[in-house]
Amino acid sequence: MPARILILGGTTEARDLAACLVRAGHHVVTSLAGVSTAPRLPAGEVRMGGFGGASGLASYLAAKNFDWLIDATHPFAAQISAHAQVAAGRTEVALVRLERPPWEPEADDRWIPVADMAAAVATVPEGATAFLTIGRKEVGAFARRSDIGVVARMIEAPAEALPGNWRLVLVRPPFSVDEEMALMRAEGVNLLVTKNAGGEGTAKLEAARALRLPVVMIERPVKPQVRTLTSVEGALELIGGQNGWPR
Ligand code: NAP
Repeated sequence: MPARILILGGTTEARDLAACLVRAGHHVVTSLAGVSTAPRLPAGEVRMGGFGGASGLASYLAAKNFDWLIDATHPFAAQISAHAQVAAGRTEVALVRLERPPWEPEADDRWIPVADMAAAVATVPEGATAFLTIGRKEVGAFARRSDIGVVARMIEAPAEALPGNWRLVLVRPPFSVDEEMALMRAEGVNLLVTKNAGGEGTAKLEAARALRLPVVMIERPVKPQVRTLTSVEGALELIGGQNGWPR
């Protein structure tokens, strides 16, 4: 019997899961925040934009009669995950989070772990040329650091104006280790700032390791304690397999 599934998306694994669940015959709606102008669209139905908080999400879940809510949002998207927990609790829709494991440092890595973006801004030493791979939402937090050079890479430029001396690299992943090393060398980067997103985008970490550059690693925000799976296969098994149906 096909299930009705709402995926909170915006990640590669959300797209992969939607494709698999649609193929398995389920009714899948993926929700995107609507912040990207040209998002990669998943299989199945897609809706865009916020729900209007946890209550709005709860109303949507109830109105559309979903069986499952899969929170496959990015590990740093803390607000929507909190809303998902509240909304699932109110509606008794089964909630599962799909979240990739964090990256772990290797022996040769020179990571400086920090709790959040504010700490990352404060940690970059004066005179450094920092390579920011933190997306566009919070990149402006570094604008007050007029004592550092910045190379900021993201897919789309932020709406706000960035300091004129910053080098902005607008490009969509993936990147190879060679490309990352070439960029770091060409721009005179001597420190990487990134979020511990996990997943496949490790070329920048490998390049920093090879060049012996320090990495300011922003740790993940705390998310609510909910049932969490780390792979698309695990989620498929739960929803499509014996353990998952009926819930
Ligand atoms: P956030 O801070 O957790 O959420 C802010 C608000 O955006 C939420 O309260 C919700 O609005 C809306 N929202 C977020 N994700 C949504 C979704 N999938 N569907 C519908 N509404 C959503 O999220 P964020 O950090 O801004 O990230 C926004 C989206 O980008 C997420 O879906 C995430 O998966 C993706 N993303 C984020 C990052 C990152 O580093 N943060 C990186 C890559 C991709 P309402 O309260 O109105 O419902």
